[in-house]
Amino acid sequence: MLSRPAALPLLPARRERRLLPVRSQGAARASLRLRSPRARGQRGGLPVTATTIQPDGTLRVEPPPGVPLVDLRGVSKRFVKHVDLAGKIANAFGAGVREEVVHAVDRVSLAIAPGEVVGLVGESGCGKSTLGRVAVGLLEPSAGERRWRGTRVDALPAAERREAQLAMQMIFQDPYASLNPRMRVVDIVGEAPVVHGMIGARQQIEYVGLQLNRVGLDPTLMRRFPHQFSGGQRARIGIARALAVKPEFLVCDESVAALDVSIQAQVLNLFMDLRTALNLTYLFISHDLGVVRHISDRVVIMYLGRVVESGASEALFRAPAHPYTQALLAGVGSVEPVKRTFVPVQGEIPSPLDPPTGCHFHPRCPHAMPRCREAAPSLVAVEPGREVACWLTEGR
Ligand code: SF4
Repeated sequence: MLSRPAALPLLPARRERRLLPVRSQGAARASLRLRSPRARGQRGGLPVTATTIQPDGTLRVEPPPGVPLVDLRGVSKRFVKHVDLAGKIANAFGAGVREEVVHAVDRVSLAIAPGEVVGLVGESGCGKSTLGRVAVGLLEPSAGERRWRGTRVDALPAAERREAQLAMQMIFQDPYASLNPRMRVVDIVGEAPVVHGMIGARQQIEYVGLQLNRVGLDPTLMRRFPHQFSGGQRARIGIARALAVKPEFLVCDESVAALDVSIQAQVLNLFMDLRTALNLTYLFISHDLGVVRHISDRVVIMYLGRVVESGASEALFRAPAHPYTQALLAGVGSVEPVKRTFVPVQGEIPSPLDPPTGCHFHPRCPHAMPRCREAAPSLVAVEPGREVACWLTEGR
């Protein structure tokens, strides 16, 4: 029987149901009764300097100044498709079928400070969703390490690792597909807090009502099924489900992409209100630069599995340094009444199965040089808080 792994971010509906068999729910409940949720973060062995009281009365231990809340160091994620039986038979006749490796994320380092909102931007297929899933613990990295409050997650004792994983949650792109259509909202939102011993079963209805209120939904609707809500309401249910386990770090993967523009604005404002009210930290994944500019303190640009530029949001949008960032921003609309020429990024993003040598962007870059095809530039600081991976800016 499958047991729920230590990585506990809430999964899309059907998988979540499958990974929570009755026996493992009971085990999780029993193990977590030992520690009140109020004490989350008060762990022996972890560096601690300050404790804050949250609006809901819970205590939160902040990492020491300068220590990121989430720290990815040299993280890579590869997906390997092994040669199947047909391929092996074909190879017996000399077909030369080889195993295929998708380099979804390639040696990415990303540190996120407590309370920070980091926008992660790139074209579809650049690896940003995979990086988000690695950050939150839904995927194990193929290489590199993941740290929570300065400590390697895989080095934490089991109970502390489970608590760390609960403090990291993900909000998925499709609010309909990520909610179990056979569950009522009261169970979708209330199941995890009960399973993890944060509340008793008798408190579930009252607790779910509080969570729905927090995201602007009418608690009297908690007996309904997901299909009885609009798209914006379903997005709020997804947010309430994530908030119900008192997270500190949220990965929002294209969380407003499927919504109408007016509903997008409402949900983005909700994210910002929750950030202030609950002192949340966000990794906000989007291909919509307007949304990212509105919501982020810092922006990270990814191209084909690598970070090519990062910097404070305003500075990066004012003066993009990497040719890929410049091309992305050249295609963004403006409300200012000036005539603009839209220049889309030339060409298609190459396949991560066979990425270009050297700088991955060189087949599409208007400034490509022979050196760009031979070696990949490292991410180097070009000014305080600003890093760029391009031979043009090296030594600037
Ligand atoms: Fe263009 Fe070369 Fe810079 Fe890559 S390293 S972005 S190919 S100039």
